[in-house]
Amino acid sequence: MHAAALLVLAGGGHTHALLLRRWIMRPASRPADLAVLLVNRTSTALYSGMVPGLLAGLYPREACAIDLRDLCRRAGVGFVQAEISGVDPARRELLLQGRPPLRFHTLSLNVGCETLWSVEAATGCGEERPLLPVQPVKPLEPFIAWLEQRLHDPSADPRVRIRGGGAAAVEVALALRARGLRPELLLRREGLQLGSGSAQRAAERLLAQAGIPLRRSVDAQAAADLACTGSRAPAWLAASGLPVQAGTGRVITDSSLVVQGFEHLLASGDCAVIGSDPRPPAGVWAVRAAPLLADNLRRLHTQPPQALRRWRPQRWALQLLGDGGVHPSRLPRALAVYGPWSVGPSRWLWRWKDRIDRRFMQGFAPAPAMAAAAPMACRGCAAKLPAAPLAAALGRLSPTGEAPPAEDAARLDHNEHGELLLQSVDGFPALLDDPWLNARLTTLHACSDLWACGARVQSLQALVTLPQAAPAVQEEWLLQSLAGVRSVLDPLDAALLGGHTLEGRDGAGLGLSLVVNGAVLPQRSWPKGPLAAGQWLLLTRPIGTGVLFAAAMAGSAKPAWLDAALAVMQQSQAPLVEILAAHGCQACTDVTGFGLLGHLAEMLGPGQRVALDPDAIPALPGALELLEQGQSSSLAPANARALVALDGPIALNRAATAAEQQLWIDPQTCGPLLAALPEAAAQAALEAIRAAGFPHAALIGRVFSRAPASRR
Ligand SMILES: Cc1cc2nc3c(=O)[nH]c(=O)nc-3n(C[C@H](O)[C@H](O)[C@H](O)COP(=O)(O)OP(=O)(O)OC[C@H]3O[C@@H](n4cnc5c(N)ncnc54)[C@H](O)[C@@H]3O)c2cc1C
Repeated sequence: MHAAALLVLAGGGHTHALLLRRWIMRPASRPADLAVLLVNRTSTALYSGMVPGLLAGLYPREACAIDLRDLCRRAGVGFVQAEISGVDPARRELLLQGRPPLRFHTLSLNVGCETLWSVEAATGCGEERPLLPVQPVKPLEPFIAWLEQRLHDPSADPRVRIRGGGAAAVEVALALRARGLRPELLLRREGLQLGSGSAQRAAERLLAQAGIPLRRSVDAQAAADLACTGSRAPAWLAASGLPVQAGTGRVITDSSLVVQGFEHLLASGDCAVIGSDPRPPAGVWAVRAAPLLADNLRRLHTQPPQALRRWRPQRWALQLLGDGGVHPSRLPRALAVYGPWSVGPSRWLWRWKDRIDRRFMQGFAPAPAMAAAAPMACRGCAAKLPAAPLAAALGRLSPTGEAPPAEDAARLDHNEHGELLLQSVDGFPALLDDPWLNARLTTLHACSDLWACGARVQSLQALVTLPQAAPAVQEEWLLQSLAGVRSVLDPLDAALLGGHTLEGRDGAGLGLSLVVNGAVLPQRSWPKGPLAAGQWLLLTRPIGTGVLFAAAMAGSAKPAWLDAALAVMQQSQAPLVEILAAHGCQACTDVTGFGLLGHLAEMLGPGQRVALDPDAIPALPGALELLEQGQSSSLAPANARALVALDGPIALNRAATAAEQQLWIDPQTCGPLLAALPEAAAQAALEAIRAAGFPHAALIGRVFSRAPASRR
């Protein structure tokens, strides 16, 4: 089915995560003709029910983190990692920081809340303004980083003054106590704010047993370390002109989750409130809203649209407050609060809560059958034709029967400044479902052919293949792709001259190919080779993207590994050209589809030898671990023929593991530059490159005229 419209899910909160899970489990419940993108600032979302246990050290982070990128992949939804800064409801655009807005047909908001103080501190409005810097508990990620830093700093004061007296403040205080800190609660009023007298008394007993003092009627301006002072929706929602609840800034919806007055906008979770049935923000409402949101999105996008379902949330929600394991027995207990009633604390309540929470998270793990599914053909530069058929076809075309020597870019002519004009072409089926980032990566990858020649990029033409879809969806995909290309070219003062678009057939997805033009003074144009004895080989950044993205397609790459790889890949290597030139670079290539060994072999002249230091070759986080597990890119078997070089011109100064050898034939998208430098300048070049923001650059080997003995 071709996409007729674009649905954007803003925020990877509980409602949207459950919506995606539902679409995975019951594909028929998903509106068939919708293209969907989910936007979130991080690639994982923390499950609120387990956050207090995470803070108390009872759960590792992985146990409580929903892998949004993988969830999107399994649901057939594009994942966009970006910071949302606003909505333009009239133009139907979601505004993103540092990238073009996303134009939607329907938008669903599930962006959660921020701690009240953090909002007021940021906007400077509101009556309460902290005098001293205070760490807000929401958003959670910076708070967790703050806590980790405090726990690992032996000189940090163990005393933590927590402003707040609600359920979250109580749980945070108990969790910090369980981690050996000395929290105290600063209350604005006389007592805790837990809904009922019995719950308050039970919580006060828990705090007293844990040795956590309560300071009552504390002035709002008194110094504190941590703010747990209730929540407020992100300020950009009100600033975008959406109807919001006074005081909390939560978007007001009707009982179908449709934002009042905006029929193409829906909102759920902490950032929203149903005008007719307001409930305090809590994860439970965000969870309960998911089936309704799923149903109403389907109804909205059925032809003709159906009447939307309405919802009246229950009056109270059960809260299970964990004590973090502060009891002398170290066994965690929980206190149950339901409206005016409370029970506990007790160990069985904790065990019950723990079971519920773990079951919730298990629902996001891929089914074993899916996880073990046959490997798919890799995308990005791993979709390159293997070296053998390429060389054979080129050889058959050549009068000599030999494939011509491979260079990174073709030399065209000279311009009026005496510069050599160079041209290169590169492209592949989309590595990512985020069209902007995909285009940025493809462009960086394509430009590196010219950077490897020492050239500056001047202009580019793009061939964009778009999936079959309604014109508005194709327009958005094209705009995002071209803006991604421009994000690389603009800082270089290079022009996007034009190009060509195609509509893919038979379900073909997004694809991008680029012709890149550049210029370089002949005297500083670097050939690929041959290398010369005495040169040092410098690799500008780590390798391993092939196996990491193969694992991502199989759902077995950790989110942090992909975050790290994408951060490296997104960094332009354009500034390195000047640094390499200043240090007398003599030959260079970019490491792409054939892997480090394949491209290094292309640099070698007849009889030349290289000694590599396996310890110096940098790997992206997770790459070696995945290779040790036997995972690899679908291009790796064809690249393995480059391993014969280890028995010939490439010697190792120690035996390499099987995983290391696999890493060196791993196909790279946005791979590093591999440069040959004179011995006298190599160390200085390395230091300059590291100082330019490439901390993992390394000198990985030397060129010899005679082979040192290999330790393979
Ligand atoms: C310490 C603590 C303990 C809690 N314990 C519980 C509990 O036990 N049970 C319970 O029900 N509730 C609990 N809560 C409340 C709970 O965290 C929230 O009610 C719940 O997380 C709200 O879910 P949500 O789906 O609305 O949004 P969230 O879970 O907050 O998710 C919002 C998502 O949107 C993303 N996002 C936000 N702004 C942007 C932006 N500008 N750009 C891009 N992405 C953005 C965030 O990264 C996040 O992934 C607790 C809260 C705290 C602070």
